[in-house]
Amino acid sequence: MKKEKRVVRDAKVLTAFIGVYCRENHKTDGLCDDCKTVLEYALRRNDKCPLDPKPKCKDCKIHCYKPEMRAKIRKIMKFSGIYFIKRGRIDWLFHYFF
Ligand SMILES: [Zn+2]
Repeated sequence: MKKEKRVVRDAKVLTAFIGVYCRENHKTDGLCDDCKTVLEYALRRNDKCPLDPKPKCKDCKIHCYKPEMRAKIRKIMKFSGIYFIKRGRIDWLFHYFF
């Protein structure tokens, strides 16, 4: 897959995952500032990944996320992963990294 295509696809998944997490946990309309920061950070890392093809982040040697961002995004992915599994969107999980 071309890098541009991957970045766009991953951005969609990231946006959906963080959106669900924020809506269910922070009860805000749209994203709260905290989640917005995480999303922007994740999108930037996604776009800047120097590896092509990009490995799953858990298999990656670089670990480009700062530890506190990594902890946050992992929590979000876990929560929203379960959310999407319950709603039959298992296919999304195989695409994404955590
Ligand atoms: Zn939030």
